[in-house]
Amino acid sequence: MRFNASWRVEELLPKALECYAALERESGLRLWEGREILRYFQSEEERRRWEKKAGNAEVQAFTKTLRAGEKEGPLAGVNTHGGICIRGGGRVDLGSWLAWWRESVQEGKCMEEVEFREEDLTLLEKGLRWRGRSFERVYFCSGYARWKLWDWLPWKAAKGEFLTLEMPGLELSSIIKKGIFIIPWGERKVRIGATYVWNPLDGEPTEEAREGLLNDFRRLLPPGIQEGRVLEQRAGVRPILKGNRPMLGCHPRHEQLVLCNGLGSKGALQAPWAVEHLVEHLEEGRPLDAEVDVAGNI
Ligand SMILES: Cc1cc2nc3c(=O)[nH]c(=O)nc-3n(C[C@H](O)[C@H](O)[C@H](O)COP(=O)(O)OP(=O)(O)OC[C@H]3O[C@@H](n4cnc5c(N)ncnc54)[C@H](O)[C@@H]3O)c2cc1C
Repeated sequence: MRFNASWRVEELLPKALECYAALERESGLRLWEGREILRYFQSEEERRRWEKKAGNAEVQAFTKTLRAGEKEGPLAGVNTHGGICIRGGGRVDLGSWLAWWRESVQEGKCMEEVEFREEDLTLLEKGLRWRGRSFERVYFCSGYARWKLWDWLPWKAAKGEFLTLEMPGLELSSIIKKGIFIIPWGERKVRIGATYVWNPLDGEPTEEAREGLLNDFRRLLPPGIQEGRVLEQRAGVRPILKGNRPMLGCHPRHEQLVLCNGLGSKGALQAPWAVEHLVEHLEEGRPLDAEVDVAGNI
């Protein structure tokens, strides 16, 4: 948003790509689709803000500045103030992977899908009991959820909504951002989004978001191309914690409770690094990085 490189992107992006390649090998699915991201400025003011950051080495490694009118593709007329071509981006099809994973773990009967409630938990000096069974740990990887046991977490969560549209007349080869994102989404479809709302924090799709996104999208379409049918509208809450970084580690008073949260609006980029870092800490005793250690953020 402010033209800064994403937190530790040089370390996190290769880790994420390595993880998705491994998941592709394991599942036989195609999950990663690399695409450049074309971010067009919305105003001259935005272009000037970019010019102040463009020389920053961390940002330079991933970007190339675009002149007005450059790289518009089928959205002719969209690049009014110039923009940035961002390398290293893409789309990871986590929906398909989750469906595959769910099926494979159910086959092995090693998963139960139930609502977890704190009332069902009895903490012991070591380990815990849950619904009459003994466990070593509970991992709280529950996204935006309020727990009494973690009531001090510094939430800055934000609701967001997106739409998937049928767009047979629009063949995009890049991901576009001008205010909203437009993401090529399989054959003859695009996904547009996303809104940012801080209240209410629920998962309910709204008419207001749908109309707002469609209006923004229409403004980016060249004359003669109309928006297609809405196939899907979805809403969710981004689990953002203060600092905009993952927050990991054991509860300061109950070491059998483990947190893996704060993936914010960048779970696809951050989760592979965060989970590996957490597991190395728990299983091999490697110290947690102070920037993500929940114990340092009370
Ligand atoms: C509109 C929108 C657009 C986004 N766009 C992007 C994007 O382009 N790129 C990107 O990287 N990220 C994006 N994100 C963010 C991304 O979705 C999150 O970073 C990611 O989902 C966080 O993963 P998580 O597993 O920590 O939490 P979640 O995905 O929220 O998963 C938590 C899970 O825990 C379950 N759970 C919670 N409480 C309980 C309970 N009591 N019992 C049982 N289960 C429970 C929930 O049902 C859920 O399935 C977007 C988010 C939104 C809302």
